[in-house]
Amino acid sequence: MDCFQLIREKDMEYLKFVLPGAWAVFSTRQGGTSRPPFDTLNLAFHVGDEQESVAANREAFAAAVGFSLDRVVCANQVHGTNIQVVTQEDCGRGAFRLEDAVPETDALITADKGVILAGFFADCVPIYISDPVKGAVALVHAGWKGTVKEIAGKTVGRMSGEFSCSPADCYALIGPSIGPCCYTVGKEVAAKFEFGPEGFDKAVKKQEDKWILDLWAANRNVLLSSGLLPERIQLSGVCTRCGGKFFSYRGDGGCTGRMAAFIKPL
Ligand SMILES: [Zn+2]
Repeated sequence: MDCFQLIREKDMEYLKFVLPGAWAVFSTRQGGTSRPPFDTLNLAFHVGDEQESVAANREAFAAAVGFSLDRVVCANQVHGTNIQVVTQEDCGRGAFRLEDAVPETDALITADKGVILAGFFADCVPIYISDPVKGAVALVHAGWKGTVKEIAGKTVGRMSGEFSCSPADCYALIGPSIGPCCYTVGKEVAAKFEFGPEGFDKAVKKQEDKWILDLWAANRNVLLSSGLLPERIQLSGVCTRCGGKFFSYRGDGGCTGRMAAFIKPL
């Protein structure tokens, strides 16, 4: 069984995931009004698109999916390992403008049912985590740097510290991002995995004069190391570069829009 449904609502298309204890979705680039190279459903303010277009796209997407932007909390992602716990009082931060987003943070956690966590992606890996026992959820942004720094595992650790979550109770979903089908890297990046945390060497393969990096396998490895059970880690298997309906940083040559991931506890 697929861990998601592709839902079409007006001109929008999005993925709705099956994740115990959480409501979790991921947008595509279908719908919206942004002009090239952000065509058309760019949901991120920080990429150089017109701010009014992004604001209108966010309103339209929220209306189509059926949630309120007032509940959303966004962070300024910087490929680091800062993790922030947010509450009802943070609602709306980064949702309407970039300036008041949670600064320099790549993972958000909440145990507040009124809070929707958001993150922005175009090839980097969105990792959704939920603990239905403690009612906590997290959203992690992991590019290759965050993956090497094991941000997903650190986030599970923080959930345990803040909300007494037991890793064995947690579920995780590795969302749409650049897959091993499309991700070649140079020697320096490959070496960070070959000689990285235990088990990471399996995520990189040499093929002729280049290296294929599997960020999905590496992040699965991180989640297993942090104590999640293998059967509770799902992989969407959707590649943003060759999947057809996504922005791809690699595929679009760097200047492009972003999809958004949203999660809230049920
Ligand atoms: Zn691909």
